[in-house]
Amino acid sequence: MKAWVDIYIGLGSNLDQPLQHVQQAFHELAQHKHLRNAKLSSIYQSKPVGPQDQPDFINAVAYAQTQLGPHDVLDVLQGLEQAHGRERIRHWGERSLDLDLLLYGNAQIHTPRLTVPHAHMLQRSFVLYPLADLVPNLCFDNGLNFSRELNALSFDLELVQKGI
Ligand code: AMP
Repeated sequence: MKAWVDIYIGLGSNLDQPLQHVQQAFHELAQHKHLRNAKLSSIYQSKPVGPQDQPDFINAVAYAQTQLGPHDVLDVLQGLEQAHGRERIRHWGERSLDLDLLLYGNAQIHTPRLTVPHAHMLQRSFVLYPLADLVPNLCFDNGLNFSRELNALSFDLELVQKGI
């Protein structure tokens, strides 16, 4: 029997009713046959990173457990992005749904398809604040501790929907 691994997924959208994309994507994750115990952070609005001539983003972080390997989780996430009609318009540009695998247990992964912990996540308030909703002190069982990084980031988000 494979072990269940704790994973954290970043959700973002800034096109075509972004709040609905994020809520629907969480619903799809929660219903997914290879994921269990899914939880969603509060949902926030953030200013775009990169080109500023695009709408604000809606962001949240989801927790779940899985027995899938990390690349299979990425396949699930990319399948959901496709199902939400994601097109790549420009780098760091607008998207109907962006799903990032932030953490996969205590794994450190560097392959052509996957970098985990997700690159730049420690510099992004729209990742660390929702992650802190799920793990308040940002101390993980595996020894990771992001509380210093969180304290270095000002709260520049708008709360859209209170979560857990
Ligand atoms: P983005 O445009 O930010 O969604 O980047 C998508 C690309 O990032 C894909 O080609 C993925 O293979 C790659 N990638 C690398 N690490 C990750 C990760 N931790 N989560 C999601 N995508 C990743």
